[in-house]
Amino acid sequence: MERVLNGNRVEVVIVGAGPAGISTALFLAKKGIRSTLIDKETFPRNKICGDGLSGWAVNMVRRLDPLLLKKLQSMPGQLPSSGVRFFAPNMKSIALPIRNQKYPDDSPGHVMRRVDFDWLLMESALENPLIEVIQGIKINHFKHDENGVVLSDTISQQSFSAKICVIACGAGSELVKKVSPVKKNFRHHATGIRQYYSGVTGVGDGNLVDFYFLTEFLPHYLWVFPLPDGHANVGAGIRSDILRKRKTSLKKMMEQALIQNPHLAERFKDAQPVSGVAAQDLPLGSKKIKLSGERFLLTGDAGFLIDPFTGEGIGNALWSGFAAAEHIELAIAANRFDAGFLKKYDRFVYKKLWKELRLSSWIQQLLKYPRLLNWVMSKVTEDPERQKSLIRMMDDLEERKKLTRPSFYWNLLRRNNQILK
Ligand SMILES: Cc1cc2nc3c(=O)[nH]c(=O)nc-3n(C[C@H](O)[C@H](O)[C@H](O)COP(=O)(O)OP(=O)(O)OC[C@H]3O[C@@H](n4cnc5c(N)ncnc54)[C@H](O)[C@@H]3O)c2cc1C
Repeated sequence: MERVLNGNRVEVVIVGAGPAGISTALFLAKKGIRSTLIDKETFPRNKICGDGLSGWAVNMVRRLDPLLLKKLQSMPGQLPSSGVRFFAPNMKSIALPIRNQKYPDDSPGHVMRRVDFDWLLMESALENPLIEVIQGIKINHFKHDENGVVLSDTISQQSFSAKICVIACGAGSELVKKVSPVKKNFRHHATGIRQYYSGVTGVGDGNLVDFYFLTEFLPHYLWVFPLPDGHANVGAGIRSDILRKRKTSLKKMMEQALIQNPHLAERFKDAQPVSGVAAQDLPLGSKKIKLSGERFLLTGDAGFLIDPFTGEGIGNALWSGFAAAEHIELAIAANRFDAGFLKKYDRFVYKKLWKELRLSSWIQQLLKYPRLLNWVMSKVTEDPERQKSLIRMMDDLEERKKLTRPSFYWNLLRRNNQILK
């Protein structure tokens, strides 16, 4: 059965109603373009995540709708964060307060369970008359016909025809492999797990989010993010090729770290897990992939847009929805949905994101070395100017580039020598 919307053939079908899919639908609606948004789950639904909303994600929510951000800020389910705390492999730590430079009254980030954040976005989609939301349908088939593209759920036998589709169905989806096959290279994937806890000490101290760069997880980390009800989102990420060499599970590695690391053992001595451990793949933006083809665009995790160093993907997922909407508008205006025309979308996305993704890949490479990390951390903790520079690095790409230059390490050394003299 082919679906039509309000008597018209649907122009755009979006598969996946995570941040990437909903943002595409909402940005299209701003342009007066109708879409059908399909998800296999029924919302509110859970999503495995660290639940951290970075400044970039917050900015994108503002760009979607300033009132939506106001609503988010007043929700009891979110906790505004005021900065980060880094722990080096030798457990030397540094707390860095972060300010929202452009909107000083706003928090630079939030921690909010994805079940709540994605529902906030979904409510906007449900209220929008230009978006038809269909829940509980898993698209498992994709084909072209003479009029466009047909997406089907062969089990419930429902089909959706459109001029163009947006594949926003996240990490590891079989549908992505069918639409745009990419040979899996574990170097460009991370494995992530998260578990909710109660009773972790120090949770919410100054509303800081904690990153533990423990040797066994490098170049990634274990995190403890505070939630508003005193609970914590605790998780770990590791590059998938490194995990395969370890011949153990990430769950075991995290359990051991929480028991064997004296600092973490102290924090977790009265802690209770309040959920199981859940795992998911993170497709990292450390290589470029083909983001479009004949009548389709890939957004969010389906397009490998996760930051290779921080593991953040929500901000880029929301932004890629904006980029997709811009290019769908152009395609409709030109009545061109062919792969050649849609290539513009790839260029646009990588023009905006590639510098940062590539820099994060370099930083990820450097963080393989625990001694280097220990040394940099000790130099930074000694020097307030270096701390300010590290804070600037959080949202200033040019400043962050310094981390990849030998002069940065030479200056640390020189400054140290000057202090010694
Ligand atoms: C352990 C872990 C921790 C993370 N922590 C953070 C963090 O703290 N901050 C951050 O910014 N990012 C984090 N990320 C990354 C972040 O979760 C993703 O980048 C983000 O969710 C991407 O959004 P998306 O819309 O592309 O995909 P998703 O959020 O995964 O949404 C995809 C949607 O598609 C639906 N779907 C899938 N297949 C189909 C199908 N065949 N038919 C219909 N619907 C389908 C799914 O049900 C889902 O609703 C983390 C990831 C992991 C795994």
